[in-house]
Amino acid sequence: MMSRPKIIYPALFCIVILLTASRPLRAGGTDGLVDETRPLLHTFVQIKAYGTGAAKAVDAAFAEMGRVNDLLNNYDPNSEVSAINTFAGIKPVVLSPETVEALENAKRYGDISGGAFDFTIGPLLKLWGFAKEIPGRRGNEPGEKEIRAAKELVDYRALEISVGQKKGSSVKTGRLLKKGMRIDVGAFSKGFVSDRGMQVLKKHGIHNALIAAGGTICVAGTKPEGEPWQIGIRHPRKNEDMLTMLKLKDTTVSTSGDYERFYNKKGKRRSHIIDPRTGRPVARMQAVTVIAPEGKVSDALSTALFVLGTEDGLALVDTLEGVEALMVDDKGGIFYSRGWPQKVVIY
Ligand code: ADP
Ligand code: MG
Repeated sequence: MMSRPKIIYPALFCIVILLTASRPLRAGGTDGLVDETRPLLHTFVQIKAYGTGAAKAVDAAFAEMGRVNDLLNNYDPNSEVSAINTFAGIKPVVLSPETVEALENAKRYGDISGGAFDFTIGPLLKLWGFAKEIPGRRGNEPGEKEIRAAKELVDYRALEISVGQKKGSSVKTGRLLKKGMRIDVGAFSKGFVSDRGMQVLKKHGIHNALIAAGGTICVAGTKPEGEPWQIGIRHPRKNEDMLTMLKLKDTTVSTSGDYERFYNKKGKRRSHIIDPRTGRPVARMQAVTVIAPEGKVSDALSTALFVLGTEDGLALVDTLEGVEALMVDDKGGIFYSRGWPQKVVIY
């Protein structure tokens, strides 16, 4: 078996959890506050949970998150998504229901963003030097011809999910239509996998918890003292500062930015979110934070809005129930959706 690649991105998170209790709770037969961090999803995943059986619940949540990540992780040659990539243009591969659900969710955000969000972005990420641990590119910037060739291989609608047969029972299969196409789950797997973790915590009777996976945080209930969870959104240009602070209950928040995975080339910042329509890294945004009912929604949308820009992005948010956004453009201009909860920012 091939060994798992250990790609962990730099640990400068765009979201910071503030003022969370460090004092373990022992009241009412609870296990106290469990606070555990493990490497997962190319980042560090932190779970805070409290209530009876919290320790066991957190273990189970990490196990489930690991299991689903193993299906989706396109940097793991043994994942189902890697199988789709390997057999692109060749044959369909059998998929687990979780993989189908994750890809169908991603397809939905492709549709509602008019293709700005595209999980087959892999060839363009590779061209621009992002399909590796430390981003960067030797030599000149990609030329028009190379960009056009990579763009030809980016189209999420070319993922065909069908019903097939395996050993007499019906299964779902997935196939990318063209050789060289490549799914990249980076824009939505943290949210999708964190939702699964939260579902497991709830199944174990834990209703007050927080799961932080890089730029996505899912919160349930409250902190041990009964206060809402407090989430700090990092300033996109001043590492030490917060742009704003949110108090949240039973929701998820995701941030996409140009300040974590990027490199500079000839005075230009090249960051990891690529506009599939132009084939070039998005340069007109610094950060986008989205609040939504589920991680799979906020994560996909923060990336989608980053590509769409402020005008089209906020117009899309207006059509979506329970979704709010805060967008920072390349000049540091701040834009909010109508129902954004905290309109005080420090910029
Ligand atoms: P983070 O990695 O911090 O969670 P995002 O959720 O915004 O940030 O995801 C960014 C990742 O999404 C990129 O690193 C890349 O893997 C992928 N990606 C880049 N551009 C697009 C796009 N237009 N549509 C979908 N995925 C993209
Ligand atoms: Mg995202």
